[in-house]
Amino acid sequence: MLQVGVNGYGTIGKRVADAVRAQPDMTIAGVTKTSPDFAAEGARTAGYPLYACDEESVDEFHAAGLAVDGTVGDMVDASDVVVDATPGGVGAEYRPLYEARDTPAVFQGAEAPDVAETSFNARANFDDARDADYVRVVSCNTTGLSRLLAPLAETYGIEKVRTTLVRRGGDPTQSDRGPINDILPDPVEVPSHHGPDVQTIFPDLSIDTLGLTVPATLMHLHSVNVTLESTPDSRDVCDLLDAESRLFVVPERSGIGSCGQLREYARDAGRPRGDVWENCVWGESITVEERDFYCFQAIHQEADVVPENVDALRAMFDMADAEESVARTNAALGLER
Ligand code: NAD
Repeated sequence: MLQVGVNGYGTIGKRVADAVRAQPDMTIAGVTKTSPDFAAEGARTAGYPLYACDEESVDEFHAAGLAVDGTVGDMVDASDVVVDATPGGVGAEYRPLYEARDTPAVFQGAEAPDVAETSFNARANFDDARDADYVRVVSCNTTGLSRLLAPLAETYGIEKVRTTLVRRGGDPTQSDRGPINDILPDPVEVPSHHGPDVQTIFPDLSIDTLGLTVPATLMHLHSVNVTLESTPDSRDVCDLLDAESRLFVVPERSGIGSCGQLREYARDAGRPRGDVWENCVWGESITVEERDFYCFQAIHQEADVVPENVDALRAMFDMADAEESVARTNAALGLER
């Protein structure tokens, strides 16, 4: 059993911990918290060994009646590998600590790409992370685009990608983020920084992205145009995408016409936290006009990177090939339709 520590038990960290625990070949060695808040209480209730992020806060945990098993260094010592899900930039500060303890780590999308040996998406470049000590799982948006672009590139060839990313203002817990009643070009500069992040997965891809931020917390929504190198039929492209395990082609008959309904669908299905791990591509939006492919896809920002973190661990420790790892992760999570 691979012993996995999770440093940073926030939106992504708590989900990755639960996903790791659900796997047959890995388990949680511990999670860290900065303070004895409700999430720390939740980690204890979930049965995870809990570590404070530094010596100074240990007393705070004890005063709050929450026993801790040590500090982050102790957790790293108890782990074969760490998933670092701390806020952007903090992961890079932790890397020397992981290195000093000879412990590999998986970082998240807000870290600069050079924090790791490779950026990672299970569908597109699993093998690049094989035997790597430091891997970065790309952001929610880049994960969503990579899953969509990989089958299109392999089957039809891609000449150019143009995508507008309509991004949620904040996650449901982030009541300090906005806008509250506006639509922001964000960033105003065109093309946005998202395209270069996709190029950390597809180095030769020609891609321009534009970003917007809107007052929503549920999901991101991508408006995608890909100029292909061939002229497939819309129906064939729909079938190609439908065969991908982490693409949910939303059928017309479902009556799902919004991000809110997608989240409700996941809650009705009993998904933990109502999480949608797959890209949601509206079937009716899949259109090919000559060589131009179009679609709308929704991305649940809190959830889509979670199975990718699990697969990154298997790649780093050579525990399975891409197909087997994705199948194992999906089966353990119940990500099967
Ligand atoms: P978050 O703020 O919800 O969680 C971060 C956690 O790290 C918090 O629990 C915080 O208390 C803890 N933390 C802060 N400083 C720490 C320290 N010094 N030591 C240990 N723990 C510390 O953030 P998040 O949304 O989970 O994002 C984490 C990473 O995941 C970022 O790189 C982010 O870009 C990436 N990511 C986030 C989303 C998303 O939509 N939330 C999606 C994909 C990727």
